[in-house]
Amino acid sequence: MDSLTKKPRLATVWLGGCSGCHMSFLDLDERLFELHRRAEICASPFTDYKDFPEVDITLVEGAVTTAEQLEEIRHVRRRTKILVSFGDCAVTGNVTAMRNFFSVDDVLDRAYRETATQIVGIPSGNPAVPRLLDRVRPVHEVVKVDYFLQGCAPSAEEIYRLLMDLLDGRTPALAGRKFGS
Ligand code: SF4
Repeated sequence: MDSLTKKPRLATVWLGGCSGCHMSFLDLDERLFELHRRAEICASPFTDYKDFPEVDITLVEGAVTTAEQLEEIRHVRRRTKILVSFGDCAVTGNVTAMRNFFSVDDVLDRAYRETATQIVGIPSGNPAVPRLLDRVRPVHEVVKVDYFLQGCAPSAEEIYRLLMDLLDGRTPALAGRKFGS
């Protein structure tokens, strides 16, 4: 963390997930005021930032599904002291990784041809449509993760306890240090 006079900096990131983990974060309700008192929330899907800032703690929702997300999480890792895999999609791939049973071509075919009400074809070369990775990957497969908070989604109470432990400099009671431990 920064010096005692400065609040620790906290961020959240949304990769390949349904946003349910962030909805659970918002369920902190009035405890968000306590969090605001203890930490500076400086980046999230709800804030507008040009570049990911240097932070003490980042919660990462979702698995890594695209080349763009792979670059993003590597960048976030370089700028984060404590990285938390936040929810089962980040921890194991979970729902997001269900597409791993199929090839990328099959997935694109399903989305853009078989189930499309208007067939416009599979986008290619469009920078607004990120390239899918061959396989959805949990966050720890591509960058070092410091703590894992499981759950789909973790409850607001669990999120709060994890954050308070980290802000107090304690090892989080609820989070695994290493996957499977
Ligand atoms: S862990 Fe559950 S709630 Fe969180 S992003 Fe994945 S599916 Fe959604």
